[in-house]
Amino acid sequence: MTTNMNEQEMQTRTSGVTRRSFLAGVGALGALGVLGGLSGCAPQTQEEAAQGSPESNESYDAVIVGTGGAGLSAAIAAYDKGLTNIVVLEKMSAYGGNTNFSSSGMNASETIFQADQNIEDSNDLFAQETLDGGHNTGDPELVAFMCDNSAGAIEWLDDLGITLDNITLTGGMSVHRCHRPTDGSAVGLTLVPGLVAALNNRNIPIRMDCEATELVKDGDAVTGVVVKEDNKTKTLNARAVILATGGLGANQEMVTKYRPDLAGYVTTNQPGATGDGYVMAENAGAQLVQMDQIQIHPTVEQDTSTLVAEGVRGGGAILVNSEGNRFFDEMSTRDKVSAAELEQPGSFAWCVFDQQVYDNNKAIAKYDSAGIVKQGADTAALAQEIGVDAEALAATVAAYNAITTDGATDEFGRTEGCIAFADGNMYAIKVAPGIHHAMGGIRINVKNEALDENGNPIPGLYAAGEVTGGIHGNNRIGGNAVCDIEVFGKNVGEVVAEALS
Ligand code: ADP
Repeated sequence: MTTNMNEQEMQTRTSGVTRRSFLAGVGALGALGVLGGLSGCAPQTQEEAAQGSPESNESYDAVIVGTGGAGLSAAIAAYDKGLTNIVVLEKMSAYGGNTNFSSSGMNASETIFQADQNIEDSNDLFAQETLDGGHNTGDPELVAFMCDNSAGAIEWLDDLGITLDNITLTGGMSVHRCHRPTDGSAVGLTLVPGLVAALNNRNIPIRMDCEATELVKDGDAVTGVVVKEDNKTKTLNARAVILATGGLGANQEMVTKYRPDLAGYVTTNQPGATGDGYVMAENAGAQLVQMDQIQIHPTVEQDTSTLVAEGVRGGGAILVNSEGNRFFDEMSTRDKVSAAELEQPGSFAWCVFDQQVYDNNKAIAKYDSAGIVKQGADTAALAQEIGVDAEALAATVAAYNAITTDGATDEFGRTEGCIAFADGNMYAIKVAPGIHHAMGGIRINVKNEALDENGNPIPGLYAAGEVTGGIHGNNRIGGNAVCDIEVFGKNVGEVVAEALS
């Protein structure tokens, strides 16, 4: 039986870097060194400012759109391969996009850190479990590329000073391969400042509050990007444009265009996740795939849109319904857990845990200070606090404890993260599914080239990260988004540098 007693995934929404209050939270981002202004902005002459000219003489080898993990990694990789005339654009006032909120970690196989910790793994198994998790709707070539290059990305990050050597498990994976910062904290808050520091060290300019609105084409080729900056429209010429604009979760209209059934769902996404990249790419002739594959996450507190990290369940928590009963294997994949939750009375669940889980997950104190954690001095007191039948909850806890203490087989098939609750304080957070991740997007090949409707590369147009589609299929495994953005972000930078050399 696997235990995750070191689970300490930090929930970032309540750390002051909330998605909903992303702009209001820039103070916290500043403290983390992820605010714009720390990196160079392209100089604008007084003359240009006065004129507000729609045209621009600015020309770059590559323009990278988006400062999430994918865009930042692309910039560093391109620069280190000799492509120095580059710029990164960010429409928000803070760096990092949804990557800031990545809580699980980065899945990777055959890594130096797994070897150090005697964890046996293989790229093939990682790929197989990724495809299985996506019910075989992911693109096997992209998945194999991601898994085969995951260990290299872990070492590349380590060389940049971003060490992810605390390894845990996420739902749908049979091997400990989810790599987190040494202290087990949320990966996003280490990754983004680390990558931004690497850009700053290289003097790669980032233009904040600079929104890409349109791709410029000359014949079939993309030759630049139109931006809105300082209330002006400008054109940045580029030999290559890399779209790393993330997903669409904050654009309710676009979400319901592709998935009418998701109307009214809360979102875990930051406000900049408005799907701009899909629109720009599609207008430039790119093919979009699996756009209806929008992942909902099963444990989102609905009033605050707080994502309760998977590590809380991995660390021992259970889900019970309003009757005090468990109803599913909490460590199953996100799609299945979400669906099971929606079948419960009121379509919600209580995420219930004890003091050990509380103490072993850094995130929970943050949730508590946000006022979303209910508490009782024991199981009966908690039952009263959350309005569920006390006897039913006591029986549920006793049956769950028996998995650990008596070696009982769980009636719902849970085998991971089963840790008996101790006597004493008990806690609960009310959760339901929320919009989380766009799994569809721009079709790419393993060179990150954006493909047209016929599967041919569009010259000059590349894409990486959540804006691309086909890797996760119809269900993304926790920890695979960071692997995706790091492997393909690094790759696109290298590919573009090589193509333009
Ligand atoms: P990924 O995980 O793929 O790197 P993120 O969501 O972390 O994606 O980051 C994407 C970033 O792109 C966000 O910071 C978002 O604000 C930014 N972005 C989205 N659309 C635009 C746009 N039109 N112009 C500039 N930046 C954009």
